[in-house]
Amino acid sequence: MEAPGASRGGFSLWAAPAVALAIGLPILASGLVAQSAPQLLWFIPLCDGLAIGCMLVTFTLGVLDAALRGDRRSLPIAAIAVATAIMWAGHFIIFPGDVPGLGGSTLNQATANLFLGINLLTPIMLSIALLQGGSPLSHVTRAVILTTLAGALIGGAAVALALAIGTSLQSVSSNGTFFDADRVVGVAGLVPALLGIFVFLAGRRGDVRIAGGVLAALTFMVLNSVTLLLLVGRYTPMWYADHVLALLAFLALLAGQLMLYAGSVGAERRSAGAAASAAERRRIGLEIAHAMAVQVEVDPVVERLLAGAIEAVDADRGTMLRLVPGGFVVEHSIDKEGRSAQIGRIFSLDSVVAGASKVVELAVSTKRAQLAGPYRVISLDTEIEDHADIRHSMVMPLMRGGEVDAVMILGRRHRDAFTDADVDQLRDLGAIAALLIRNARLLTAAESASIAKSNFMNLAAHELRTPLSVINGYVNLLADGSFGAVSEPQQKTLDVVRNKARELNEQVEHLLIAARLESAMEDGDPAGTPSVVDLRDIVREAVDRHAGRASLVGATVVVDLPSSPVRASADVRNVAIIIDNLLNNAMTYSNPPSEVRVQVAAEDRPLVRVMDRGIGIAADQHERIFEQFYRVDNTLFGYPSGTGLGLFISRRLAARSGGELVLERSAPGEGSTFTLRLAAPADGAQRQA
Ligand code: ADP
Repeated sequence: MEAPGASRGGFSLWAAPAVALAIGLPILASGLVAQSAPQLLWFIPLCDGLAIGCMLVTFTLGVLDAALRGDRRSLPIAAIAVATAIMWAGHFIIFPGDVPGLGGSTLNQATANLFLGINLLTPIMLSIALLQGGSPLSHVTRAVILTTLAGALIGGAAVALALAIGTSLQSVSSNGTFFDADRVVGVAGLVPALLGIFVFLAGRRGDVRIAGGVLAALTFMVLNSVTLLLLVGRYTPMWYADHVLALLAFLALLAGQLMLYAGSVGAERRSAGAAASAAERRRIGLEIAHAMAVQVEVDPVVERLLAGAIEAVDADRGTMLRLVPGGFVVEHSIDKEGRSAQIGRIFSLDSVVAGASKVVELAVSTKRAQLAGPYRVISLDTEIEDHADIRHSMVMPLMRGGEVDAVMILGRRHRDAFTDADVDQLRDLGAIAALLIRNARLLTAAESASIAKSNFMNLAAHELRTPLSVINGYVNLLADGSFGAVSEPQQKTLDVVRNKARELNEQVEHLLIAARLESAMEDGDPAGTPSVVDLRDIVREAVDRHAGRASLVGATVVVDLPSSPVRASADVRNVAIIIDNLLNNAMTYSNPPSEVRVQVAAEDRPLVRVMDRGIGIAADQHERIFEQFYRVDNTLFGYPSGTGLGLFISRRLAARSGGELVLERSAPGEGSTFTLRLAAPADGAQRQA
C-alpha cells in the first residue's frame, strides 16, 4: 500500500503530529495558566473566516490533485473541506447570536452547538480519510461532484441540526458559562481522533501522502477535545485556546495538501529534468557513436570520442590511454588550451596520482570511474606541480567484454567538480567507444595483414615466374628434339614435366591475379577494358587450349554453341581466364572418363555454362568455394593440385566485367553447373534475329 514518496512520507508522517504537539501543547497550557483574557469580539469571525478560507483552498487543491493524478486519495479531504467550510460558514453567520445581548437564546445555543458539532464531526471524518487508500479514478468529474455533494450534505445537515436542536440542548448559559454537554462532546471527539490514530499506527494505512496533514489535524483535534473538557465559559483563556486549536486543525489540513501539491510539482520537475538530461545524454551518445561508427581508422575514432566526451561534460582536456603490458600508452589527447601530451609514451599504471590515490590503477582494478581533483603524472610533474593545471578530473575505464581496454581521463580547469551525472553521461558512451575502438583496431590489423599477404603473393609469384619460364623453355626445347633425338620413355617423362610446369604456371598466374585484384580493390577497382565480344569465339579458343589436357585425362568436351553470335560487353582476357578455370575444374574434379559440356546462350543475359558429371559439391559449400584459398575437404577424392584461388578470382573478374559467376546447381555425385553471366552490349546487339 506504500505509495511512491513513502520514504519521504516516513519522515513527514512522524514529524507532522510532533510539530502539531509542539505547537498545540503550549496553546493548551496557556489556556490553563493564563489568568484573565479580554473580550475580543472580532476573534470568532476571524477564526471562522480563516477556517473557511483554509477549507476552500484545501478543497481546490484536493480536486486538482484528483483531476491531475486521476486518483481518489485527496477526495476525502475535499469532502471534509466542503463539509467543514459550510459548518464554519454557518458558525460565522449565526455567530452574532453568540454575542451576549445581540442574538436570542436560540441562536446563542445553535452557534455553541454547531461549534461542538464541528469538534465532533471533524475527527470522525479525518479518521475515515486517514484510512482511505488512494486508487485510480476513471470518472474524475463525476467523483468530484459526488464528493462535493457528500461534503455539502454533511455540512448542511450539521448546520440544520444545530439550528433545529436550538434550545433543546443547553450547552451554554446566557451569561456564557458552559454546561456538561460540552464535556460530553469533548470526550466524544477524543474517541474517533484517537481511534483513527491508533488504527493508522497499527498499520491499517490509507494513502501515506495525505496522512501527514491528517495526522497533524487529528492531533490538534485531540488537544481541542481536551480544551472542551476543561472549558468553563466564553471569553476565557481556555475558550480562546479551544478556538485556536480548532482552527489549527484546518490549517494543518491545508498544509498537508500544499505539501502534497508541492511534492507533485517537485516530482514532475525532477522527472522532466531527468528525462531531458537522459534524452540529451542519449542524443550526444548516439551522435558520437554514429560519427565513430562511420570511421574505420583508429585515430579519428579516438579523436571523435575525446572531442565528444569533452563537449558532453564540459571538460577542458581529454586523454585516451590504452592498456599495454606493464602499464598504459598515451594514445591521444585533446586540450582546449592546446597543451601538449606525451603521445606514444608508456607509463606504469600507478603513475597517475590524485591526492593519495593512484587513480588510473584504481579505475582499472575496480572497473569504476574515479572522480578526483588535480592529478600528477609521476616522472612528468613535480610534487608541487599538477598536470596541465587541471583542477577536477574524471578517470573513466572503457570496458569491452567485462575487461578494461582503455582509460579516458577528462579534466576541468574551471571551478565545478565532476559529478555522478557526468559519469552517467559518459558510461554508455564509453562502452560503445571501447567496442568501436577495438573494431577499428582489428580492422586496421586485418587490413595491414591483407596488404602484407597480397604483397607476399605478388613477390612470390614474380620470383617464381622467371625460373618457371626458363624451365618451360628448356623442356620444350628438349621435347622438340633441339638437343638431340628423344626416346619414347624420355618423351613420356618430358610430358609429365611439361604438364607439371603448366600447372605450376597456372598457379603462379592465379597468385598474381589475386594479388592484383586485391590491390585494385584498394585503388578503387578499375573496370578492366571492356569490349564487345562474341562469347562463342572465346569458348572455342578456351576449348582448344584445353584439348591437350582433355586427351591426357581422357575427358570429352562437348560444346553447345548457337548459330548466331552471342555478344557481351566484357574484357576478353578476363572472360578467357574465367572459362579456363571452369574447364580446368570440371576436368579436375571428375572421375575419368569425364564429360564436360560448355554451353553458350543468350538468355536474359549473354551467358556461358560449364557442366560436368564430376564429384559435385555439397550444398553448405556452394558459396564457400568462392572464398580465397578455400578448397573442399574431400578425403575420398583426394587433393588435386590447386590453390583455392581459381573460383575466387573468377568471381571477382566476372564482377569487374559487370557480370556474375554462380554455381547454378551441384550435388555430391551428381556433377556441377557453373554459370557465367555477362553484361549485354549497350545496344542489345546479342539478340540476333
Ligand atoms: P582449386 O581448384 O585451385 O582448388 P578453385 O577456387 O578453382 O580452387 O576451387 C575451389 C574448390 O571448389 C576446389 O578445391 C574444389 O574443391 C571445388 N570445386 C571447384 N570446381 C568444382 C567442380 N567442377 N566440381 C567439384 N568441385 C569443384
